Formats: sequence, structure tokens, C-alpha cells
Amino acid sequence: MMAQLIDGKQLSAQVLQEVASEVERLKAEHDIVPTLAVVLVGEDPASQVYVRNKVKRATETGMGSIEHRLDAECTQGTLNQLIDVLNDDPQVHGILVQLPLPSHLNEEEVIAAISPAKDVDGFHPLNVGALASGTASLVPCTPQGCMIMLRQVHPDLTGKNVVVVGRSNIVGKPMAALLLQEDCTVTIAHSRTKNIESLCRNADIVVAAAGRAELINADWIRPGATVIDVGINAIDVDGKRKLVGDVAFESVSRIAGAITPVPGGVGPMTIACLLLNTTRAARRQLA
Ligand code: NDP
Repeated sequence: MMAQLIDGKQLSAQVLQEVASEVERLKAEHDIVPTLAVVLVGEDPASQVYVRNKVKRATETGMGSIEHRLDAECTQGTLNQLIDVLNDDPQVHGILVQLPLPSHLNEEEVIAAISPAKDVDGFHPLNVGALASGTASLVPCTPQGCMIMLRQVHPDLTGKNVVVVGRSNIVGKPMAALLLQEDCTVTIAHSRTKNIESLCRNADIVVAAAGRAELINADWIRPGATVIDVGINAIDVDGKRKLVGDVAFESVSRIAGAITPVPGGVGPMTIACLLLNTTRAARRQLA
């Protein structure tokens, strides 16, 4: 039997609808327009597409958005100065610096410079600590989106055995923290993990965030398990560029109980959660 498809396009439309309603309430009740400032350094084509999509979706929800573009050669000082200005601007509620940055810039320093109250990516050390201690208000967008998708299939995640493949700061680690908060038993696998296939095969849920095209095939998945595919990998098929996940969708969808597609899965949820975080940040800044 084919797995149930967890449709990120449809689910993200619902989240964006909630965001639009909250934007309306904030306007009507508090006379504020929740506003996201996006900073793009350089001309990286993928980053340009991501930024364009974020700004487009923000505008569709009625939110304000401001785009700042800096030269690829800009100095750390210039970027930090811009962040200071945005931190102090009461009209700006969320700040996002599109990563990766050109190699001469220090990402950690940039992330730490953003006011934690406006850190809608949830990457600031204070927000990371809050997530680890279970008190977070601004949670990284991709894992947050994955949790919404998982709840479609598992309204109660208590006691589920989950393997998260990948341990990055932006996906794997915060994903594991969120699952732990929901009383899952979490294993984090990475490039040095032994017997990764059998670990995954014993899991009720596998979250794939390794950045390796179609790494996970049907042999890795227990029949009926839920598979969340975070990966976005461009591969060449007959001379044409194709986007695939970290999961071999064709084979895995025949054995899994539920699965997210790529594209149209976690990607749209990430943007929706970014805008959800922006309205949350705006509301908290009222206090
Ligand atoms: P990183 O490269 O930062 O991290 C990848 C992780 O996967 C590392 O922990 C690495 O292990 C692990 N890994 C790599 N190869 C293997 C392997 N063969 N077996 C097991 N583990 C492995 O990537 P990100 O976390 O930033 O992103 C992961 C994927 O998700 C990428 O494809 C990215 O494009 C996508 N992505 C999608 C988003 C969306 O909105 N859908 C948002 C963010 C990312 P180690 O630590 O040992 O090196």
C-alpha cells in the first residue's frame, strides 16, 4: 500500500492563513504591522530565490517586509551596523540574515548580534538555550514545520522511537530537542554513526536531514513508519536539474505509513513557520 502523503503545500497554506489572521488582529487591536527584515549578502542564486519567496509570502499575509541587500564584499562591521539599526527599529519585529554568508564573514558573530526578541530563525544562543531547557518562544523554522507535519499523523507522539539523521544546529539538533519535549525517545544519527540502517529500521519515525540525495532507501524503513524528508538536493537526471530529498521517495513511499514529498513537503512549512515566528515576535514585543 502507498504511504499517506503529508502535503506541505496544503498544510503551509493553513499555517499562512493563521498568520494572516494574527496579522489582522495585531493591526486592528494594536495598530502595528508585524514586519520582517531580511538581509541578503552577496549574489548567491539559491539565497536570492529563498529571500524572494520569503518576502513574497510575507506580503501575501499582509505583513510588512523590508529587504536589505549588501555587497558580497561588505565588511563584518557594515553588516553588524545594519543589524544594530534593525534591532533598534521599533517598526521591525523579526530579523533574518540569509545564510550561508560569504566566507570572510563570521556567521556566529552575526547570529549573536541579532536581538533574541527579533531572532525569528531561532538561532541566537539564548533562543537555543531556551529550546534546550523547554522554554523557547522562537523555535527554528524547519524543525517547527516538521513537528506540525508529524502531528498530522501522530497527534500524540509520546513514547515514539525517532531517529533524526543529521546533527546540524539549524535542523538536526533543534529537531531532536522538540521531539524530546513531546516525550519521544530520540536517537541522533550522523556521518560517524554505526549501523545507521538498522537504527532507522527500528524507528517509528525517521527524520532525514543529512543533505545526501536519496541516502535512505526502503531497506532502512520499517513497514508503516513515518518518514519526514528535510533534504533538498539538486541532482542531474538526463541532463536536467531535479530536486530530490534525502529519501528515495519511489521505494520508501511503498513501505512507509506516511511520508513528506520533496519538493512540496518541509520546504513550504519552513517559510510558513518563519512568518508564524514573526507574528509571535511582534506580539511579544507588545509586552
Ligand atoms: P548540514 O550539512 O549542516 O548537516 C548535515 C548533517 O547530516 C550532519 O550532521 C552530517 O553528519 C549528517 N550526515 C551527512 N552525511 C551523512 C550520512 N551519509 N549518514 C548520516 N549522516 C550524515 O545540513 P543541514 O542540516 O543544514 O541540512 C540538511 C538538509 O536539509 C540539506 O539537504 C538542506 O538543503 C536541507 N534543508 C532543508 C530545509 C527546508 O526548508 N526543507 C531547511 C534547511 C535545510 P556530521 O555532523 O557527522 O558531518
